[in-house]
Amino acid sequence: LYSKQLISVTALLLSTAACSSNPPDNGIGGSSGTGASGGQTGTGGSHPGSGGTGGTTGTTGGTGGTTGTTGGTTGTTGGTGGSLPASGGSAGKATGGAGGSGAVPAGGTTGTTGGTGGALATGGAGGTTGGTVGTTGGTGGAPMGGAGGSGASGGSAGTGGSGTAGMPSSGGSGGGTAATCDNLSLAPGKTGMAKPSGAAGGLKVLDWAGFTGAVSYTFDDNTPSQMPDYSQLKATGGHFTWFVVGSWLSSSTSLIPQYKATLADGQEIASHTYSHNSAGSQSDLQQNETYLTTNFGVTANSMAAPNCDASWASVAPNIMFQNRGPCGTSQPTVSPRDSTSPFQLPAYLPDAGASATTLSGTYQTGKWRIFVIHGFDSQGGTYQPVPIANVSAAMTTAVSSGYWTEGITNVGAYWQGQKLISASATTNATWTLPAHFPKNMCVRITTSGGNVTQKGVTIPWDDHGYYQISLDAGEVTIQ
Ligand SMILES: [Zn+2]
Repeated sequence: LYSKQLISVTALLLSTAACSSNPPDNGIGGSSGTGASGGQTGTGGSHPGSGGTGGTTGTTGGTGGTTGTTGGTTGTTGGTGGSLPASGGSAGKATGGAGGSGAVPAGGTTGTTGGTGGALATGGAGGTTGGTVGTTGGTGGAPMGGAGGSGASGGSAGTGGSGTAGMPSSGGSGGGTAATCDNLSLAPGKTGMAKPSGAAGGLKVLDWAGFTGAVSYTFDDNTPSQMPDYSQLKATGGHFTWFVVGSWLSSSTSLIPQYKATLADGQEIASHTYSHNSAGSQSDLQQNETYLTTNFGVTANSMAAPNCDASWASVAPNIMFQNRGPCGTSQPTVSPRDSTSPFQLPAYLPDAGASATTLSGTYQTGKWRIFVIHGFDSQGGTYQPVPIANVSAAMTTAVSSGYWTEGITNVGAYWQGQKLISASATTNATWTLPAHFPKNMCVRITTSGGNVTQKGVTIPWDDHGYYQISLDAGEVTIQ
């Protein structure tokens, strides 16, 4: 028994010693949280502004600006508005504002000024203000991720704000780019012609501005029947030339405003010298230039030799653009690119009382017929008068038959201008105007395709079937 107790005590002692060497039981520790991933950054606005719209077509038919470029990229500020080149014509590139991004709530910025109109524009207004103010870009999405969670899960991803596109700014209106063509106020009847779409090139100057031929009626000596019968001439729809003798008109000052008023109808006032002497005289010619400028506000470009005298052919080039004469019933017409001297333009002088069919019977397809007529009755001793009914009927026939019925300077400038442009030119040509060539004269051209420019300005297509190009420019390019 003792032995058992001793063992038992010993066991107890051993047991007591073992337990007193262990720590207290605190339980199993929790896992650490994994909140480190937190919220994701929000996605910024992502609506780049669209490219600005190019300038609109100028009021006189100029080609508008080119299309703006694509707007800015996400998150940047808006693009710059368009600007026009000083010469006008091409509208500026308006760059649209970009959408805002996450942290950059920037809208499109204001477009810059459109620019000014082209120098060649008739009515081409300068460019208007360019781009409009871009709207505010999207509000950037602030990252809204959740805070790191304590424990196992992090916050949910933040949602980015959606950007709003900046408003693209518009380019200014393009400056007018149509050439000023004082000699081309009349157009052939056909319309709706499509712009050539083939290969760039094929430059061709149309004969007689695209008409069947040309007819220039010229009326000399400011005779008594001219103003009383003017309304019938005007009613034909054609244009013509008055060859005024200054010294004869100066004694009838009441007629001056009547002749001057016809300018607004497209008629031409030109020089028949001041004194109407047969012998060529530069001083007399110069005196009439001054007289016509003073009383009518015009520069007379063409003259008609008094009595069709040949002596004026050598005087005229010193001052004038061209001279009419010789005259008669057997005078030829003028052909495109022919070698007729511009200071000896041949004129048909009808016999007194010539019929309308006699007059119109001298028209020739593809040619230029020039007439000299002094008046419509015998008042004041008018030389070889032709009744107004006959003249107006023949002019009406010219118009209805598709002839370019226009004053002698306007047609002559076209004829000379065509000769200045090489017939073998295809994609470009240059030329120099001769002395005393009138300003604002043009020719009409066609192409096989491409775009027509003059000094970098795009020339608009005219759906009558041509481009009207300026002779003053001295250059044309098809590309
Ligand atoms: Zn005369």
